[in-house]
Amino acid sequence: MGTGHEDQEETLMKCVICQYGETEPGTTTVTLTRGETTVVIRDVPAQICTTCGEEYVDAATSKRLSEIAETAVREGVQVDVRRYKAA
Ligand SMILES: [Zn+2]
Repeated sequence: MGTGHEDQEETLMKCVICQYGETEPGTTTVTLTRGETTVVIRDVPAQICTTCGEEYVDAATSKRLSEIAETAVREGVQVDVRRYKAA
């Protein structure tokens, strides 16, 4: 997961992977690992390419995913499946 762009726009964007597709809003599942802790987070909002299926998670969502992972680490979780909740 990279740092990405600080782009909050909801508009469609061109897919940088396949160069043809446009993305549309959807949800995805993200797996994060922090040391001994693995957290699977479902229903993460993402822009998904209609052509190749590449998923783009924006910077704010990535940050929130990190917070969820850090919380799981503090709780001593080894493996957990959680549902994404915005801050
Ligand atoms: Zn694509």
